[in-house]
Amino acid sequence: MPIATVNPANGETLKTFDELTPEELERRLSNAEAAFRRHRTTSFTVRSRLLTRAADLLEADQDDIARTMTTEMGKPLAAARAEAAKCVKAMRWYAGNAEALLADERPPEAEVKDAGATLARVHYRPLGVILAVMPWNFPLWQVVRFAAPALMAGNVGLLKHASNVPQTALYLEDLFRRAGYPEGCFQTLLIASRTVEGVLRDPRVAAATLTGSEPAGRSVAAVAGDEVKKTVLELGGSDPYVVMPSADLERAARTAVTARVQNNGQSCIAAKRFIVHTDVYDAFSERFTALMAALTVGDPMAATTDVGPLATRQGRADLEELVDDAVDQGATALCGGRRPAEPAELTRGWYYEPTVLAGITAAMRIHREEAFGPVATLYRVRDLDEAVAVANDSPFGLSSNVWTRDVEEQRRFVRDVEAGGVFFNGMTASHPALPFGGVKRSGYGRELSGHGIREFCNVTTVWHG
Ligand code: NAP
Repeated sequence: MPIATVNPANGETLKTFDELTPEELERRLSNAEAAFRRHRTTSFTVRSRLLTRAADLLEADQDDIARTMTTEMGKPLAAARAEAAKCVKAMRWYAGNAEALLADERPPEAEVKDAGATLARVHYRPLGVILAVMPWNFPLWQVVRFAAPALMAGNVGLLKHASNVPQTALYLEDLFRRAGYPEGCFQTLLIASRTVEGVLRDPRVAAATLTGSEPAGRSVAAVAGDEVKKTVLELGGSDPYVVMPSADLERAARTAVTARVQNNGQSCIAAKRFIVHTDVYDAFSERFTALMAALTVGDPMAATTDVGPLATRQGRADLEELVDDAVDQGATALCGGRRPAEPAELTRGWYYEPTVLAGITAAMRIHREEAFGPVATLYRVRDLDEAVAVANDSPFGLSSNVWTRDVEEQRRFVRDVEAGGVFFNGMTASHPALPFGGVKRSGYGRELSGHGIREFCNVTTVWHG
């Protein structure tokens, strides 16, 4: 894929960028190494001041960077502004909390003695230069979610962003530079994905984090495994959204729509499979479908738009294939199931109508693959056991949503759902203080909270005889 800004609302190529030359890449690697040597010894006070300054600058830039994101990947402008605001919040949270999260740990006195020590401590020391391979769907948030804790821990970052969001990627490098971070602390590498392997194998790079698709994660993790370097993988998801009879159906249906179409349906933690108890299936399905069909598809810059275009032409083609495969095998499109035929402006961009599919079977690709666009699948289940079984019948295990007021059912879901999160009576959303990540093919490791900041630390035992 060329490194370029192509507006998904109309397919126009607005700006193209050259890849870094080998010499430029080498200079950046050596800057990163030198920056780490200094940054690792800075105090939390200094790191916190720098990150707070970056947050303040981002807050001031919110409108401009939101327009850039919407132009590059098509999310509605209001959602882009909200994404920038969320980044500001996460930066401030880590600026304020990192020191406590990484404070030395003291094991209990009796255990210190038992270990034959007069004193024992656990220290969290930074690992080094961390390579971040990031996706286009939340082009600011995914990066900040990595960068804020990494920089606070004393690491430095190299960003290989998705090829379709180069202006957002360059903005991020500039943001950290303007905030006062020394050269090399945070650099954007305009490189193709085939160049990632060489960077990851470079001895100056200590570890990598990748947010993206399963194939990309597998390939980066294979190289990192070969080099014995730590990785965190945040990959795809096909989150279940279970609705049980005790649910508030109106709220469940409204939230289901937001959970499915947020970010034009291109979110890893979007609810994708709607698993509904038979007692409330008809009522839920009718209300949910009516709300999905009533959404406004249109120009992502317009305030009236609910759902903008998909980010890439290929992304829409992949989604169409999944829907067509399901319909060919007997699924019913209760709404959508096609590109909008009018107005004419919409036919130039990569739009797709909000779609609800019923009658899903295990033979359909959409049952096992991630639908990365505004397409929901409906499942009717008899009872709690079947709801859990369908929820777990997926290669992914990122998060899950369950609508029930029954405490015993809640306990069962927490015990049995194979996912990195269980959200009751609401939709999955990330927050700086709560760990985020998945199991199964959704990846491993955690971002955010204390768990996230410690992923790229050398957990060091200090023992005194
Ligand atoms: P993608 O195609 O996997 O790309 C992600 C990043 O990986 C891009 O920077 C891409 O660069 C790079 N890349 C792709 N193949 C690579 C390879 N073989 N070696 C090294 N780097 C490679 O994913 P996407 O289409 O941007 O994002 C959508 C996917 O991300 C979905 O599956 C979604 O669920 C997942 N996602 C997960 C989370 C989470 O937290 N779990 C969050 C957001 C998104 P190029 O652009 O240059 O190809």
